[in-house]
Amino acid sequence: MFENLEKIKQQFNEELNRVESKDELERVRVAFLGKKGLVTDALKGLRDLSAEDKKTFGMQVNVLKNEIEEAIVEYQKKIEEQEYLKEINNAPRYDFSIPSDKPLGSLHPITIVQKQIEDIFKTMGFIIEDGLEVQTEYNNFEAVNIPKNHPARDMTDTYYLENGQLLKTHTSAAQNAIMRKYGAPKPGEYLKALFPGRCFRNESIDASHENTFFQMEGMMIGEDISISNLIYFMKVLLTEVFQRDVKVRLRPGFFPFVEPGFELDINCLICGGSGCPTCKHSGWLELLPCGMIHPNVLRMGGIDPDKYTGFAFGLGLTRLAMMKYNIKDIRVFNSGNLKQLRQFTI
Ligand SMILES: [Zn+2]
Repeated sequence: MFENLEKIKQQFNEELNRVESKDELERVRVAFLGKKGLVTDALKGLRDLSAEDKKTFGMQVNVLKNEIEEAIVEYQKKIEEQEYLKEINNAPRYDFSIPSDKPLGSLHPITIVQKQIEDIFKTMGFIIEDGLEVQTEYNNFEAVNIPKNHPARDMTDTYYLENGQLLKTHTSAAQNAIMRKYGAPKPGEYLKALFPGRCFRNESIDASHENTFFQMEGMMIGEDISISNLIYFMKVLLTEVFQRDVKVRLRPGFFPFVEPGFELDINCLICGGSGCPTCKHSGWLELLPCGMIHPNVLRMGGIDPDKYTGFAFGLGLTRLAMMKYNIKDIRVFNSGNLKQLRQFTI
């Protein structure tokens, strides 16, 4: 009886060593531990043994059973590892250094213009800030001096969320948060920030209007900021962006968040001023609303308007990109038409 167990063990080891797959392993398991397996079978001999031998034999059968079970678990791990390695070795090989024969990605024209302007202003010490696209009504309107029922709200109808928040209508929505984040500048220093962003307006779409567009806003706050500072920065900006002389005109403009406010128009670079659908046949394009920050806006930003002044300007990034790249239709930008968008890659 006892030798029989030894034989079973030997036979198991031999068979296990020949196993090469999970299926084969399962077959071996059933052959030894299954209902009709060799180990189960060996127990049948128990009835012919004395009470003393029964106990010893029973224990030995259990030991053998445990050994076989453990060996099977171990062997299963080994097989899984081998199968995994085999899978890796047989997997197709890629050489990531080979240039693609598919078209490469490119920067969106608006991104190109945005980066260019950011670089210009960074060299002049401006910090670049990011504003949220979903804003509170307070940040978008009240904080920039557009109280409830102000007519300016009609001109900038937008999309409202069920929770009362809205998609921001202008980058000015970030002004309050930036003033509060950095606070009033120390004597002799300035708060200079540039904040680009995607803006929204509930608007019918045509060649020069989109419901989604990009703006870039800048502001500079200090103890002695005047309109001359504003004009200087705008001139630097336009010369750098267009790399040539651009005709501009400054005319009074009303924006609730500035006082005085101006409209800086740029001579239409698409038609050269003779009139086209992009400039609504006027020869001029509104590019840059700007002005001195309204005392109320400074106050709401936690900055004392009796001590500090500042200028702010909002730049139509989408418009600027149209002018720079001679894109006649604003709808190109959000069209996803890669053929058109790719040609501006730098
Ligand atoms: Zn034009």
